[in-house]
Formats: sequence, structure tokens, C-alpha cells
Amino acid sequence: MINIYQPSLGKEELKAIEKVFKSNWLGKGPKTDEFITKFSQKLVQDTFEGLAFSNVSYKNLIPISSCTEGLFQTVNLYVNEGDEVILPSISFIGAANAIVAKKAKPVFCDVDKRTLNVRLEDIEKKITNLTKAVIVLHYGGVPCDIENISNFCKEKNIKLIEDNANSPFSTFNNKSTGTFGDIGLWSFDSMKQLVMGDGGMVYCKNLKDIKKLQQEIYLGLLSQSGFNNQNDKWWEFDIDRPGRRSIINDIQAAIGLEQLKKIDKQILKRKLIHETYSKELNDYVDVPLPLDFTKTSSYYMYHIQTPDRDKLASFLRKKGIYTTFRYYPLHQVKYFKQLNVELPNTKYVTNNTVCIPLHQSLTNKEINYICKMIKKFKK
Ligand SMILES: *Cc1c(COP(=O)(O)O)cnc(C)c1O
Repeated sequence: MINIYQPSLGKEELKAIEKVFKSNWLGKGPKTDEFITKFSQKLVQDTFEGLAFSNVSYKNLIPISSCTEGLFQTVNLYVNEGDEVILPSISFIGAANAIVAKKAKPVFCDVDKRTLNVRLEDIEKKITNLTKAVIVLHYGGVPCDIENISNFCKEKNIKLIEDNANSPFSTFNNKSTGTFGDIGLWSFDSMKQLVMGDGGMVYCKNLKDIKKLQQEIYLGLLSQSGFNNQNDKWWEFDIDRPGRRSIINDIQAAIGLEQLKKIDKQILKRKLIHETYSKELNDYVDVPLPLDFTKTSSYYMYHIQTPDRDKLASFLRKKGIYTTFRYYPLHQVKYFKQLNVELPNTKYVTNNTVCIPLHQSLTNKEINYICKMIKKFKK
């Protein structure tokens, strides 16, 4: 079976893990710090060729145990019981779960039919005076209309959270996605482009918020405890809020550092596969629209649209090609159905869209085989 997503890990990552073992320091430590620094440099490097944006530095970033935990922490920070949070129905389930966990209301909105990205007009339709936050996603790595959405949210005093799990180092007008809103979230789980087993990153615009988040994800501690505490009673500590423990460790960070070195090449490989797919399949199915010059993509997913989607997916599965549809609309999930919303574009997308394999380990032979099978079905 040809996998739809697949990590690329090798001897570099193994060597890096070995070094961490030998250092005798497995927990959150120097490798984690190095990962934050290198990640922030990469975010800035991709934007205006190294000209630093004042809103991105290592100070704005905290690694976190997963992107899902980041969503829970972020919603907890900004949203109160009874508030409304707007998000596309085509979102990751963890985003809606985080809203419900806070006893707030998820308000599902529509998306563009072709790009599956949320548009400002979709959000505007759902605004009420209870709207506290908006959670957007850059579908498949392609930036949504984030500048306009961000300006709108600022104007209305609504918090903007970017689920950037699909779009590591995608840019809009030369600025990295994930850094437009109040919070941006990355995922490094095993299905993503940069993997560390599990893990994530939080970008937080406001440094006061970052302090709170830092406490929330590390037991509420106000200062460093133990060895790093310069106090003459280094066992003492204080908290002013209770917190969980949602950190990453140096084993994960060491893997992440190696992955970071490979990410540009991996994105380029995905881009080439994207181009091949679009060229080959354009006459048979609806392929993703070409990017306009304001955007770059991480090329996380490749989706095609066709009215006989279900039959095509079954056919491909029988031919050893695994496909899926992301993200199954949340307003169709039993738990959220009572909200009773109608989203026509989402309905169209849900019945016509399938994501086909896209990862950097696909061989030319596999890519050709996938195209050939889709053409064969459509003939
Ligand atoms: C994978 C993913 C997540 C969750 O990331 P984890 O690190 O696995 O918790 C959230 N949002 C989107 C869009 C994702 O693709």
C-alpha cells in the first residue's frame, strides 16, 4: 500500500538521539533551547530574506507536547464560559474539543469550495457580540486570506488563533503563516512534515501571554526549580496558578533539529510532486488552484475533486493507493450535530474531495502509478 503521509527519518536523527543519550540529559534542556532558537531563525529567514520582523523571535515561541495541547491551552487563555469561537467546520477535531472543554460554543463556518480555506466573508457571517475568538487553518499548506482576517479581528477586538499544523514555513506577503494572529500553532506529530514523534510549537504575539502559557504548560512554576535555581535554597519554588506539564524533551528536540535542516528540501520535493499531479490530472478531475504570487505553500496535502469521489477512493484502495479526506466536517459529527448548521460549500467539499498520497519519500514510479490509476478510473 502506498501511504498517504509518511515521515522521512534517517541516520542523522539516530545519531542526534545517541548524543542526547550520551549527554545523560534527556529532559527539557539545551537541545530544546537550541530548537526554539533555530526554529525562530527559520521563521524569520523565510521572510524578506533574513530581515527580522519585530514580532518573531525566540522569545515569542514555546515548544509544547502537541498541537492539540496548544489548542487547549490557547482557548483556555483567551476564551471564557459562554463565549463563541468561530472556526471552519473543516477543521481538526481537537480545535472544537478545546472550545467545548472550556464550556464555550464552537460556531462552524463555511470555506471556499476549491481551496477549502476559510474566507473573511465566511467568518463575518457568524460574528455575534459573543464572538471571542476565531480559529483558522491554512488548508494543505496554502495560506488563507490571513492578512484581511487578521485586520478584521484586530478591528473587532477578537482573538485570532492560527492552526498552522498544515503550513510550516508557508508565507503570505513574505511573512510566515502562524505569525499573523495572536497565537500560531505548529504540530510535529508523526504525520506532519517536520516530525519529532509528538510535539508542537506555540507562537504568541504578546509576551505577557507567553509568560502565562509558560506557567500553564509547566506546573505553574514562576521560576526555575532545582539545578537551575541560583537561590541558596534551590529546592524552593512558587506558583500563582496551577499548571500542567506539557513540555517536550531533548530527545524530541534533537530529532526536530535534524528535521529542520531537511525541511526546505522536503518542501521542494513535495512541490515537484504537486506540479506533476496537477499537470497529469488536470484534464480528469478538479485539481488545486495555482498559487498566486503573494503566497508560498508547504505542500502538506494534495486534494482532488470529482463527483464520483467515493468510487474513485475505493478503486484506488484496491489498487494499493491509500487516500483520505481531511478534515471531515465537524458539524456532521454526532456530538456537534445538534447545532444544526447549513454550510453549502462544506457539503460540496465533503462529497467531492479526496486527498491523495503526498510525502517526500514517494518515488517517481509511485507517482506515475497513482496518476495512471486515477486516469484509468476516469476514462
Ligand atoms: C495534526 C493536526 C493537529 C494536531 O496536532 P498534534 O500535534 O497531533 O496534536 C491540529 N491541527 C491540524 C490542522 C492538524 O493537521
